[in-house]
Amino acid sequence: MSVEDEASGIICAPPFRHSTIQLAHGGGGRAMRELVDSVFLPAFAGGVPAPRHDSAVLPAAHGRLAFTSDAFVVRPLFFPGGDIGALAVNGTVNDLAMAGALPEYLSASFVLEEGLELATLERVVRSMADAARAAGVTIVTGDTKVVDRGHGDGIFIATSGVGRIEDGVDIAPSKIRPGDAIVVSGDVGRHGVAVLSVREGLGFENALDSDCAELGSLVRALFRAGVVPHCLRDLTRGGLAASLCELALDGGFDFRIDARKVPISAAVQRACEPIGLDPLYAACAGRCILFVPDDELGAALGALAAAGAEPAPIGVVEGVARTRPGRVELETALGASRLLELFYGEQLPRVC
Ligand code: MG
Repeated sequence: MSVEDEASGIICAPPFRHSTIQLAHGGGGRAMRELVDSVFLPAFAGGVPAPRHDSAVLPAAHGRLAFTSDAFVVRPLFFPGGDIGALAVNGTVNDLAMAGALPEYLSASFVLEEGLELATLERVVRSMADAARAAGVTIVTGDTKVVDRGHGDGIFIATSGVGRIEDGVDIAPSKIRPGDAIVVSGDVGRHGVAVLSVREGLGFENALDSDCAELGSLVRALFRAGVVPHCLRDLTRGGLAASLCELALDGGFDFRIDARKVPISAAVQRACEPIGLDPLYAACAGRCILFVPDDELGAALGALAAAGAEPAPIGVVEGVARTRPGRVELETALGASRLLELFYGEQLPRVC
């Protein structure tokens, strides 16, 4: 079995544990979960399964803080609608926002490859400054390391972020309740297709822009409208399907999703079909799903739309499975139903 096959997620989990790191371990799928559970959690958390949330929520002298960390290895560095710098800032801002925090401060560390054009670095840094300004955060600390030629890929960026969580805000996977409406904040799959469009030899006629954007303003709009969702999750690697599967598996929830209600642009559909990509699994960089009590659905949709989003209710939390793992049932366009599975790796590696 080749690495590419595993990274594509088409082939099921192999019946052995790898003795080397595979691309699939960075794909946000089952391979990555296995790595976290078998290597990181035993070392860092005494083997206690940590609640998988976009940020750690920590007690502070006054209230609570959200704290999160990310690394970015997207290839190529620039793609339609964004670049590694914008992705790094927005990705970290979004993880803070998904915990209901107001993102405040970021760190940014750079691993640069010897020989990188200074103009390339300056372009990425300007993009980070613009993204930080737009999201209302300040980059206050960081680090620079250089690896010798051939031992990096231009630029890798690691970011961390902190933000304050206001009293009364408690947004977490554990707060999801049966009957909650599941809403997606906009159309899915753009980021994966945008990166794919500029990968070597894979140019499309009409390049589509990534959805790369900060989500903090949407969360603030919800709060202003008096809506506090039970849970938020930004869609990144593995797209909508991976996020739903993760939440279902972690919390034992059963979700029912109507495929006909999931917004997918015609351009994403056109790009995915001929190469066998499933848009439900294609990466996003500026979309989230929301779990809201049914009686707050109208207010949530109104607040999101007023903030410039094009939200769509796509499903419901049916219940909590007690004797088996939670699952995501998809009603297809033809009226049939199938279960969404968490891929082993990613359809497309190195998208963020
Ligand atoms: Mg996240």
